[in-house]
Amino acid sequence: MAACIFCKIIKGDIPSFKLFESDKVFAFLDIQPLSKGHALVIPKHHGEKLVDIPDDQLAEILPVVKKLVKATGAENYNVLQNNGRIAHQEVDHVHFHMIPKPDQEQGLT
Ligand code: 5GP
Ligand code: ZN
Repeated sequence: MAACIFCKIIKGDIPSFKLFESDKVFAFLDIQPLSKGHALVIPKHHGEKLVDIPDDQLAEILPVVKKLVKATGAENYNVLQNNGRIAHQEVDHVHFHMIPKPDQEQGLT
């Protein structure tokens, strides 16, 4: 979708810190991280909400989230996915947050 910022990130038209890419999935660092390693994992298929994403694309998302959890070494983390404004969705392209939770406040750097 031409106006979508995450579609532009997938195409490389907007720069991102890429963590993973396959034919169906793209992962990158959140620009406003809630903790060090806060990542976003998205299907390449544009869809606004979870129900808009084909099952074959959805099936490849959680294995990538799992890889990122292992890569960060986080023992405590949140995996979140917001749908709709009332549910705090700001970007209308489905995305899964992977947010490591450090034991102590370690800052963002
Ligand atoms: P939501 O509230 O929709 O679940 O989360 C959207 C997330 O996308 C936010 O955490 C926000 O920081 C992130 N984000 C928004 N625009 C950009 C961008 O241009 N680049 C990156 N890397 N992250 C973005
Ligand atoms: Zn999109």
